This record gives sequence, C-alpha cells and structure tokens, in this order.
Amino acid sequence: MATQPIEIYNTLIRKKEKFTPLNSPFVGMYVCGPTVYDDVHLGNCRTFISFDLIYRYLLFVGYKVRYVRNITDAGHLEGDRDEGGDKFAKKAKLEQVEPMEIVQKYTVGFREVLRMFNTLSPSIEPTATGHISEQIEMTKQIIEAGLAYESNGTVYFNVEKYSQKNNYGILSNRKLEELLEGTRELEGQDEKKGRLDFALWIKAKPEHIMRWPSPWGWGFPGWHIECSAMSTKYLGATFDIHGGGMDLIATHHTNEIAQSQVCNHCEPVKYWMHTNMLTVNGIRMSKSAGNGFLPLELFSGNHKLLDKGYSPMAVKFFMLQTHYRSTLDFSNEALQASEKGFERLMNAVSTLEKLKSSGKSSSDIKSLCAKCYDAMNDDFNSPILLAHLFDGVKTINSINDGKATISKEDLSLLQKTFHGFIFDVLGLKEEKPATNNDDLLNNLMAMIIEMRNEAKEKKDFPASDKLRNGLAKSKITIKDTKEGTTWEKEK
Ligand code: AMP
Ligand code: ZN
Repeated sequence: MATQPIEIYNTLIRKKEKFTPLNSPFVGMYVCGPTVYDDVHLGNCRTFISFDLIYRYLLFVGYKVRYVRNITDAGHLEGDRDEGGDKFAKKAKLEQVEPMEIVQKYTVGFREVLRMFNTLSPSIEPTATGHISEQIEMTKQIIEAGLAYESNGTVYFNVEKYSQKNNYGILSNRKLEELLEGTRELEGQDEKKGRLDFALWIKAKPEHIMRWPSPWGWGFPGWHIECSAMSTKYLGATFDIHGGGMDLIATHHTNEIAQSQVCNHCEPVKYWMHTNMLTVNGIRMSKSAGNGFLPLELFSGNHKLLDKGYSPMAVKFFMLQTHYRSTLDFSNEALQASEKGFERLMNAVSTLEKLKSSGKSSSDIKSLCAKCYDAMNDDFNSPILLAHLFDGVKTINSINDGKATISKEDLSLLQKTFHGFIFDVLGLKEEKPATNNDDLLNNLMAMIIEMRNEAKEKKDFPASDKLRNGLAKSKITIKDTKEGTTWEKEK
C-alpha cells in the first residue's frame, strides 16, 4: 500500500483531494467506454491510456481494483441531446450490414488497438444491449419518483423538476439558468416539456432494427441511462472513481448523476476524473472535425499529416509525457522526440541490468526512487515521473561510464523501481524491431512481393511503385535480384 496518500483532482469540487476509498483496499472504478460504430481514433485512445495508467498505479500500490469500462453498442444518437439518427443504424445502412455486425467489427478493432498500446483489460466490460432490463427498471423508478414522463412512446427525464431539490449542474459548475440560456428553444411539436429534458427511453421507428419491448412500447435506451445502470449493477449505488473525457462532463455525466441520484437516493461517485483532449493544431481530434487519425495510420505512417510511421510504444510515450488533465497537441516533431526519448529509456533499462555495484553510491538513489512515487501520488503526474526516471538514466549512464558508483542495496532498489514504474505503471514494453524471422511479416511480404510482380508483368508501373513507396515508409526496402525479389527492414 502507498506510504504517501494519493491526491486526485476531483471535477466535482474542482480541486485535488486525498484519495480515501470507500472500502479500502477495494476500489471501484467506472470509465465510459467507446461507442463502437466506427474505428477508435487516437484521441479516444488517449483517454483509455490515461485511465490504464491510473488503474495500473492503483494496482501497483496494492489496491484491489474492480475496473468497469462499458461498450456503448446501442442508443447513442448523433447529437448528445437526443437529436439526429442512431449512430449504429446509420453506419449499418452505409456498410449494408446488420447493426450487430458493426458493433462486432468495431469492438474487435477497439480491443486490438488497445492491446497494441499494451493496456490492461478491464475487470468487466459490459455492453448496453446486455443490460436492457436494468435500464428499463431504472427508467420505471424515475417515472415512479415523478421525475420522468412518457410522451408518445419516448420517456424523458424532467430536469427542471429535478432541479427544484437537486443541483443538476453540480459537475459542470453551471446554474440551471445558465444551462437554459445555452439551449435552444423547443420547437412547436416537441415532445419534451422542458428544453433540458433528455431521453431515458426512445421510441423506435418501424424501420429501426435494434429495438426492445418495454412498458412504453418498442424502443431502445437513451445513451446516458446505460452508464447509470451498469455502474450501479457492478459497483454499487456509490463507488470510488468515475472517469471519461472532459467532453462528457456537461451532458453525459451530468445526466448520469441525476438518474443515479433519483434511483439510489445518494451521490453516485466520490471522485470524478476527466481527461483532457488530444488536439491537432489546437482543434480537438474527432471524427466530425475530420482530423481523426486512426492508430493504424499512425503506426504505418500512411496519412497525409504524417512524415513517417511511429511504433505504438513511441506514441504511448508521447502521450505519457503530458499530464492527463492538460491538452496534448499532436505534431510530427513531438513524436520524433518521443521516439528518441523512449529509445534512450529502454537503452538505460538494458544497461541497468548489467550494471555492477561497488562501494557507496555517489548519488541519493533512495530519494530518486521516492520521488517517482511522489509524482504519481500527485494526481498521477506521469510527465514528472518521466523526468525523475530520466534523472535516473543520467545516473545509470554515469555509473556505466565509470564516472559514478552505486552500492549493492541501491542497485537492487533502482532496478526494482525502474522495472516497476516503466513496465507495470507506465505500461511500456520493449519493442523488438521486426526481423526476417517474424512469421507474420514474412507472409505479408511474400504477398506484397507477389502483388508487385503481377503489377510489373502487366506493366502497371504506378501500382508497383505505389507498393514499393508504401513499404519505404515503413523502412522496408525491396531489391530485384537474379534469384528473385528480396527485402530488408531497417533497424
Ligand atoms: P466515444 O466513442 O465518442 O463515446 O468516446 C470515447 C471516449 O473518448 C470518451 O471518454 C471521450 O471523452 C474520449 N474522447 C473523444 N475525443 C477525444 C479526444 N480528442 N481526446 C481525448 N479523449 C477523447
Ligand atoms: Zn458513460
């Protein structure tokens, strides 16, 4: 268990406070997961990598964490305030498949990308479609409490009525009047009584495929109710940490608090944590802004904004160099610097393995190691942690060059600290350059070479050049020899 208390910045009170779990050593943590109607972009990954860091550190210092991260596979409309079409139905129509095929395809893709970033799987990964009855049950309870009403098969939460006894804007620190001012007037035939009312259950149109029977007819759940239902089910009426990106504060999390409060008669969450956005030239990365990189484009370098490809660990290192509550702006220069920094750190780890102790230590290793804990205890400050680790790198290199010394006891402490923080807490891992012994790469290269030879036979030189240039971006060169075509990957 941590010697020093962990301090967490709590969005609810807008300052850092001591972390005291409700039932230590157990910690319940819920993070809003992806809406699986499209590929995850790098911005989404930043949020999940940040919570992976938090999860890993809590485990590292001895907490027993139940980490729940949901999969939104129904109910998310295009607009946060119940406007627009169903994201899944729209994509299914576009790709001419079943909505559940969309869900399956992008859930698998999401897990695959997070695996490449070496994140840990959550303890439970519940889906919205797997918890329809719980969501109906909560909706019924809110109606019974007099705080929701049915209107033509759709059920709305009555925000103004809720606000008479509760502070609806508690999380975003906004007064009801301000929120009302910022929302559009209701149009003539609107089913809602109040402008801020949001849907708990939505009536399905006849052509809507993903629909379930309910006391209000065939329909599907609103987006916000799923997180109230699943967090209550797996973590209880009040739990320790709830997280997500900052963009979720004003609507999704605000509505979650209201729903859970009505059903469970208590504040649902002790510590609300929010990650800041990944931006490109200062603009938030999102699918709608058209500046959303796919992680695979970043790894291969196959994108107009990229000079080259970057490995998953270099990208992860780039993210960890900024605190989770600060914005992080994407740039090729920053990624190239991170690539070098990551390499320096990994080289130091292998030097540390072979280091020999002798006599007394010439620097204060114990204090260096304590500072690593202090950094993480201060609201999971990974950039400060990395700065201390790089002080350690300097020490390691000096000892290796014979310019400094380390005692036996300190050497084993430094090795333990480096391993623990780099691999277990930051979740970095060594990346071996692909070699010609790599089966997958060999098979893929055989396929690409065959495609190129076919293109050349057909005298389709633009196609064969495209393949050669594409490979060059991944530092693979191909040579045509008398024996056939060979390839080589630069280390
Ligand atoms: P979504 O799939 O849109 O529901 O988003 C999944 C998670 O990614 C949410 O917690 C969002 O807040 C977060 N997110 C979306 N865009 C970004 C971004 N540009 N930077 C960081 N997190 C983001
Ligand atoms: Zn959520």
